[in-house]
Amino acid sequence: MCGIVGYCGYRPASVVLLEGLKRLEYRGYDSAGICVGTGNKFELLKKRGKIRELNELVGKRTLGDFGIGHTRWATHGEANDRNAHPHTSASGDVVLVHNGIIENYAELKKEFESSGQIFQSETDTEVIAFMIEDAYKGNLENAVREVLPLLKGTYGIAVIHKNEPGKIVGARNGSPLVLGIGEHEMFLASDVTAILAYTKDAVYLNDGELVSITKDGYRTFDINDTIIQKQVEQISWELEQIEKRGFKHFMQKEIHEQVESISRAFQGRLNKESATGHLGGLNMLPNELLGVRRVIIMAAGTSYHAGMIGAYLIEKLARIPASAELSSEIRYKNPVVEHDSLYFVVSQSGETADTLQAMREIQRKGGKVLGLCNVVGSTIARESDGGVYLHSGPEIAVASTKAFTSQLAVLYVLALSLARMRHLSIEDGLKIINALEVLPEKISSILKQTAHIEALAEKYHRYENFLFLGRGMNYPVAMEGALKLKEISYIHAEGYSAAEIKHGPIALINENTPSFFLVPDDLLRDKVITNMKEVKARKGKLIAVAVEGDLEIAGIADDVIYIPHTEEIMYPFLMVLPTQLFAYYCAIKLGRDVDQPRNLAKSVTVE
Ligand code: GLU
Repeated sequence: MCGIVGYCGYRPASVVLLEGLKRLEYRGYDSAGICVGTGNKFELLKKRGKIRELNELVGKRTLGDFGIGHTRWATHGEANDRNAHPHTSASGDVVLVHNGIIENYAELKKEFESSGQIFQSETDTEVIAFMIEDAYKGNLENAVREVLPLLKGTYGIAVIHKNEPGKIVGARNGSPLVLGIGEHEMFLASDVTAILAYTKDAVYLNDGELVSITKDGYRTFDINDTIIQKQVEQISWELEQIEKRGFKHFMQKEIHEQVESISRAFQGRLNKESATGHLGGLNMLPNELLGVRRVIIMAAGTSYHAGMIGAYLIEKLARIPASAELSSEIRYKNPVVEHDSLYFVVSQSGETADTLQAMREIQRKGGKVLGLCNVVGSTIARESDGGVYLHSGPEIAVASTKAFTSQLAVLYVLALSLARMRHLSIEDGLKIINALEVLPEKISSILKQTAHIEALAEKYHRYENFLFLGRGMNYPVAMEGALKLKEISYIHAEGYSAAEIKHGPIALINENTPSFFLVPDDLLRDKVITNMKEVKARKGKLIAVAVEGDLEIAGIADDVIYIPHTEEIMYPFLMVLPTQLFAYYCAIKLGRDVDQPRNLAKSVTVE
């Protein structure tokens, strides 16, 4: 979950590392550190807190001509200066940063402790530096190669040694690592955003691969020291896409970007003539798609909510039994994999460890797994049997917004294609395409109501508990709304099917627990209104998202946010927007760190 950056070149290393860490801060932000080398003189600077604290520690100095840096999301040992990376070996000759978890670290540490060596930190990382020092016989690559098989768990690492100034060795197993190639300079990073300001030429490492870089070259190899020829790929993101461009927060920018990001998700993927969708990356022939008898979508967090909606839609339109599963759970329940089932994994980053592992488990059982992710070159994108990119552009805010609606858009195109191969008529297919195409306009009209939603946040942000309630395809939207509010404002919120409240949650209702109801003008509208009345009868405050012209709702709810009318199945796209904006403004009113909420990090690369 953390960020790693490494640099060898002609620029001052501290500047490149700090700039890279700033870009990676969304991946972990409890503490940060750098180690820079000038020849064999190393300087180690690390600090609890945000990158700005580390920046203050470095001050105006520009240091080193190579080095490594890290921004941490603590798994072992609290976030403090001592546990911050980089970590050093006993003598200080080896310095290392690590992303991931070493599961057998306690055992490994014991061996050193029994010979009287003392560790400085409580991390699972420090022992790797000790082991590399122990294995070192004059060649850092060899020492790293020797140590890796002894580590159980996941890692992306970058290591330097005082005897080999100007060189960094990196390795990965389960945590991303990418090499950036410049002219007389080389970069190493856990995420391309760290290096985008300097180069667009990248080499993505696979699990089990190592790399060593100097300013003039690199070598990729495996654990047996066999050279691996890697392809140099172009990073498709632009630097300006990872800037705030006038917005106060990345989250605010990303909410507003949905007008365009959503169209990018279905651009070139809809065919009006045949009234169907086309997702080239699936690598599946029409007759293979026709043979699909079951669809299972595996994901975590926000992506899981998108997956639930996707499953609902596939079943409804294509009449194929479909379900969404939490990737963390499916992996361990020994799932039955049948030859005519089609699996999808959904992950913004394409690195989500739970989802990646679920994918691998299904593949091991012979299942075909297709990926839906946003980050090009990510592990899921590379290891899946086919897949589709979201094209939503970099999502930097930890709480996902635009990736969610892009995931939905792709799932809708998929459902449309599967449905058109079966029972859906040309007319009905066209209706869906037309409705998708006007979504950006409708989204834009909701975004114009920001001031109203901000005023509602002002009115409600002091409440400590919320319920988010919806039905049908808007039930997962209610779950997503509740998740967003929790994530960034730390207000406790639960997302439920509105029908479920009478089975328990209604016990929570009183004048201090407002409910956020999603009320489209669909088949279930009247039933949801009944649920609203049940809440009202118990003095619960009601905020409703309803469809323009539905005046009855205004008579029941305390406050209403109106959204434009659309086809019944399209409401999730529109319903989610007010919930995103409401969460955003509540968080602002409460003074929260919106883009980097406590305890969270983007791209959850640990299980
Ligand atoms: N497990 C390591 C630690 O707790 C690395 C965590 C990370 O990936 O940031 O320090």
